[in-house]
Amino acid sequence: MRIACIHAHPDDAEILAGGTLALLAELGQQITIVTMTAGDCGSAVYGPEEISTIRRAEAAASAALIGAEHRWAGFQDLAIFNDDPSRRKVTALLRELRPEIVITAAPIDYLCDHEATSQLVRDACFAASVPNYMAPGEHAPLGVIPALYFLDPIAHIDRAGQVVMPEFTIDVSSTLAIKKAMLAQHQSQRLWLKQQHGMDDYLEQMEEWTRACGERAGISFGEGFRQYKVHPYPQESILQRTLATYMAHSR
Ligand SMILES: [Zn+2]
Repeated sequence: MRIACIHAHPDDAEILAGGTLALLAELGQQITIVTMTAGDCGSAVYGPEEISTIRRAEAAASAALIGAEHRWAGFQDLAIFNDDPSRRKVTALLRELRPEIVITAAPIDYLCDHEATSQLVRDACFAASVPNYMAPGEHAPLGVIPALYFLDPIAHIDRAGQVVMPEFTIDVSSTLAIKKAMLAQHQSQRLWLKQQHGMDDYLEQMEEWTRACGERAGISFGEGFRQYKVHPYPQESILQRTLATYMAHSR
């Protein structure tokens, strides 16, 4: 299967789904990690072009650890909007990648880019299957809408600070080490978060969030998902079936 994990910035996919993507890679699935932006605002040291180049290389190195590919969707930080040209751009990307499963940002999250990504990807999954919907490039419309999954928001809380419970949790205890190694590829971000957010525990923070998510499902380390099953999106539990032995409730 082809699986596209599409999130806003370099490192979001690793923080929220790195362990699950590593499991899927172990199972032989073909994975593309798409970041909407190249993280052009994520530095107080480098200019936008320089930091984008650095972060694209970091994202590619992270993806390579599980045999995945990284793609930049061509957006800029704090400039992802749910508008007509952007939806056509994301649609074109989906028609090119042709995933059976799409995993994306939570509908409610702390940052505008995350929420706009969620909406754009949700709607582009539908639009990609509509023959009369025009998108850049020569790629044919998708035959079916991909199965769509939302990740948890960052820190697993909504904007009121309340914990968001996922529909199901994947046990990533066996891939936590690779998840950490993937996130560690994003070296520029440790420096940035230290300066901007006063946070010098990049990897530890991710591990704590993953531990807390697992604890809520009765396991050591977990990543949460919610399938978008509203008509006409696929109702089949394709990701849950693929990862059946790692579903927290099956333990
Ligand atoms: Zn982000």
